[in-house]
Amino acid sequence: MNKILDLAGIGIGPFNLSLAALLAPLSNQRSLFFERRSEFSWHPGMMLPDTQMQTSYLKDLVTPIDPTNPCSFLAYLVKQGRFYRFINADFARVPRLEFANYLRWAAEQLPNLRFNSDIQDITFDHNRFTLKIAGTPSDVHSQNLVIGTGMTPYVPNWAKPSLGSACLHSHHYAVSDLQVTGKRVAIIGGGQSGAEIFLDLMSGARGQAADITWISRRPGLDPLDETAFTNEYFTPDYLRQFHELPPARKQPIIAAHKLTGDGVSPATLQALSRYLYTQDFLETQPTHYRILPNREVYIMERSHNAFHLYMRNGFNNENEDSLADVVVFATGYHYVLPTCLATLKARMDLDDEGFPKLNQHYQVPWDGPSEHRIYMQNAGRNSHGVADAQLSLAAWRSAMIINDLFGLAIYPVDPKPAPVQWANHNSLKPTPFFESAEYKQPSIAK
Ligand SMILES: Cc1cc2nc3c(=O)[nH]c(=O)nc-3n(C[C@H](O)[C@H](O)[C@H](O)COP(=O)(O)OP(=O)(O)OC[C@H]3O[C@@H](n4cnc5c(N)ncnc54)[C@H](O)[C@@H]3O)c2cc1C
Repeated sequence: MNKILDLAGIGIGPFNLSLAALLAPLSNQRSLFFERRSEFSWHPGMMLPDTQMQTSYLKDLVTPIDPTNPCSFLAYLVKQGRFYRFINADFARVPRLEFANYLRWAAEQLPNLRFNSDIQDITFDHNRFTLKIAGTPSDVHSQNLVIGTGMTPYVPNWAKPSLGSACLHSHHYAVSDLQVTGKRVAIIGGGQSGAEIFLDLMSGARGQAADITWISRRPGLDPLDETAFTNEYFTPDYLRQFHELPPARKQPIIAAHKLTGDGVSPATLQALSRYLYTQDFLETQPTHYRILPNREVYIMERSHNAFHLYMRNGFNNENEDSLADVVVFATGYHYVLPTCLATLKARMDLDDEGFPKLNQHYQVPWDGPSEHRIYMQNAGRNSHGVADAQLSLAAWRSAMIINDLFGLAIYPVDPKPAPVQWANHNSLKPTPFFESAEYKQPSIAK
C-alpha cells in the first residue's frame, strides 16, 4: 500500500463491489477498496426468512456490462454446483439471502478489497488524496477516489432520544435480540421493510406479541410498480436523458417515481393478504393486529414504561394516539455526506439538500485539479434520479466510472435506446464526453 493508488474506494457495499469486480481484470491500474466491517455483509439487519430480491438476478455486479466477468451470479451458481437446482426451483425472484451469499462469494474472489479499514478522514495535497484509516499509523495515497459508503438509516428527530433495545430502526432488526412476547408493538413505515417486519412479528419469530400495530403515512399499502415500461426508468437511455434536465424539472419527476423503487412488492402484498386471511378465519389463537395507513406520527412520548404515539389521520383528518412497548422504525434511509469527507466538503459542489452535483460520469465537481477525480455512488438521487439507489444500473454506472477514469471506452455503455421517446433525442443527445471541451485527460491515463 506504499505506492500511490490510481483509485481508492471507500466502503464495500454492492456498488463499490461491482466497480472492484469490473476493475479487477484490467491491467495497468492499482485500485484498492476499503471497508470498515471485518467481512462483506449485505444489510444483515434485514436478512429475514422468505424475503426476495426486487430486481432480476441478471442485474448482478457485472452481467449487464460484461457477462464473461468471473463475478457474475451465473458463475456463482456454477461454482457452487447449484445451477441445475436453481433453474429447477424456478424462483420468480431470487431469495435475498441467496443474493447476499452471492455478493459475499464475489467479495472473496477479488484481490483489491481491504476489510477492517474504517476511513476516518481524507485530505488532498501534493497532488494526491491521503486516506486516514482508524488504528493504522500508515496512510493510503491515491490519485482518485470513489465513495460508496451507502445511505444512512433515517429516524425522525423526535424519536432519536428513545432509540435503544425497545425502540430501533429496521436496519438493526434481524441482528437485534428483540423479544416481543406479551408486548404491544408498533411498526412505523409502510414500505417493503415495514411489511417484512410486520409479517415476521406476526409469524411469532420474536415471540407471541399481545398486539401488533403497523402505521404508515402512505394512503394505502401501495405496490411497487415493476411493470415493463416503468422498468424503462432503470435503463441507461432514460438515465442519460434525465441527467440532462434542469434541477427544477427533476424534482417533480423524482417525486412521481417514488413507487418505482419504494413500494411494497406485489409478491409481499399477496403473501400478506393470504396470511391475514388465515389469521382471521382459520387460526384458533390469532394475533391481534391493526394496519393503520394514512397516519402521520408526529411525536412520541415516554409514558411509564411505554411509548405514546400521537398521529394525524389523513383519511378523516382526525387526531389519534396509540401505546406501544416496542417501536420499530421502518422509515427508510437518507443521504448524508460521509464524515470521512468532512475536510473536503467545503471544496465540493453540493446542492441545497447536501447532494453532490454529479456530472454524467458520477464525478462531483470540486475546486481541486480536475485530473484528480472524486466519484460518488448512491449519492445521485437529485442528479440521476430514483435508479441511483437501486442495483439495476450498478454495473452500468461502474462501467461509466471506469471509462471516465481511464479516458477510454473500455466497457460498452450504450445499449440500444428505449422504445419510448422521453424528449427530443436530437436536442438531448449528449456530446461524446471524451470529445467535449469539458474533458480533461485523467490522472490515470498513461
Ligand atoms: C433491506 C434492503 C433490501 C434491498 N433490496 C434491493 C433489491 O432487491 N434490489 C435493488 O435494486 N436494491 C435493493 N436495495 C437498495 C440498494 O441496492 C442497497 O441499499 C445497496 O446495499 C446499496 O449499496 P451501497 O454500496 O451504496 O451501500 P451499502 O450496501 O450500505 O454499503 C456501504 C458500505 O460502506 C461501508 N462504510 C461506510 N463508511 C465507511 C468508511 N468511512 N470507511 C469504510 N467503510 C465504510 C459500510 O460499512 C457499508 O458496508 C435494498 C436495500 C435494503 C435496505
